[in-house]
Amino acid sequence: MQQNWSRHLRHTLAGLAGTTLAGLYLGYPLYGLTAGLAAYVLWNLYQIYRLAQWLADPNATDETPESIGIWGVLFEKLHKLNQRHLQIRDRLRARIDRIQESTNAMRDGVIMTDARGAMEWWNGSAEYLLGFRRNTDQGQYIYNLIRTPAFKSYFDAKDYREPLEIHSPAKPHIHLQIQISLFGDDDRLIVAKDVTRLHQLEQMRRDFVSNVSHEMRTPLTVISGYLETLEDNAEDLPAKWQRAVNTMATQSSRMEALITDLILLSRIETSEHTDSSTPTNIDSLVRQICQDARTLSGENQHEITFEVSGPHFLKGDEYQLRSAFSNLIFNAVKYTPALGRISVTWSTNNEGGHLSVKDSGAGIDEIHIPRLTERFYRADPSRHKDTGGTGLGLAIVKHALINHDGRLEIRSQLGKGSEFICHFPTERLIEGPTK
Ligand code: ADP
Repeated sequence: MQQNWSRHLRHTLAGLAGTTLAGLYLGYPLYGLTAGLAAYVLWNLYQIYRLAQWLADPNATDETPESIGIWGVLFEKLHKLNQRHLQIRDRLRARIDRIQESTNAMRDGVIMTDARGAMEWWNGSAEYLLGFRRNTDQGQYIYNLIRTPAFKSYFDAKDYREPLEIHSPAKPHIHLQIQISLFGDDDRLIVAKDVTRLHQLEQMRRDFVSNVSHEMRTPLTVISGYLETLEDNAEDLPAKWQRAVNTMATQSSRMEALITDLILLSRIETSEHTDSSTPTNIDSLVRQICQDARTLSGENQHEITFEVSGPHFLKGDEYQLRSAFSNLIFNAVKYTPALGRISVTWSTNNEGGHLSVKDSGAGIDEIHIPRLTERFYRADPSRHKDTGGTGLGLAIVKHALINHDGRLEIRSQLGKGSEFICHFPTERLIEGPTK
């Protein structure tokens, strides 16, 4: 560039010297110099004009303006810069096209929205699964197209650790699992997965368990009935049969308890969300359960206390709430040694209502805690024979709470007792029954 400049300067000076000499030859050297300078200025103005024209739309023609001297070099450099820019742009466009093609080929629906939910881009599967239309839905708010209230609350809550399951707004037979991720400036990447098949299999499993349980209940009732009669007339039986009958009666009542819990769990699982607006009086419900727990404790003489603070009416299904609370309180009795303390409290704050069941029992090793609500999971399998539990209690609690928009928190340490807390959202709390 330095060289070009000095050449340009030399040529300009030579040109000016030429016009001055020509002027001198004619007797007007100053006019000659002025004419040379004027020609130089005009030429430069013309080059600037060409440059401005070309910069206004560099890609309008394939040709770049040509010139001599420094302007020629400038035009050539700008041309090269423009070519490089075009190449980078084409490469980026090809890459974006490829990403779009691959996301279009995905079976999952993918949607990009801004922070407020205005739709910016979506793939073909999103059109099929959610019924979006390319021409009309661009820029629309996604919750105006997916009108399920649960979706709007999920979108606004910004807590996307767990996915959301909804029916497709366009094809109600399709069951979708929605997962949202945040990116950029609070923008959202929404992935909608078709889980209809999984849902059907889950439904089949539930129906199967529920049908088998119902079918087994009648024969088992007959067997238990006969065993009870035999136990009542045990003195008429030969001695070796008496023990056999006792064992059979114990096992058949365990099976009855198991079937009752299986039926209860499948009923709670299939009842979905309880939007029941019937107020349940937590105070009287828990007081009754604590009374039953004292009877269960019997000779073990646990000290069972119950305290209530704040509004104690909850919108929900009393039957399910009773199952959940009694499982927790009866577990506390089962897993706490004689004379132990069990304190049950109901409290409310700005996060909602909380029922805590705290015991002074053996506690649970923290490695078991995440899995305790799985069906038949036992922290200490050797002990469950003594407690007579079915292994379904905490699964029942978990599902009953899900149906009430609640969640179960378990705090425990080996040797330091356990605390099970049922958390309910504020929307579920009410002052009292409306008359
Ligand atoms: P189970 O019928 O075996 O009691 P649950 O589902 O009610 O089944 O409980 C699952 C497991 O959680 C129990 O087997 C027990 O190991 C543990 N558990 C539940 N409640 C308590 C408690 N209050 N203290 C200690 N362990 C408990």
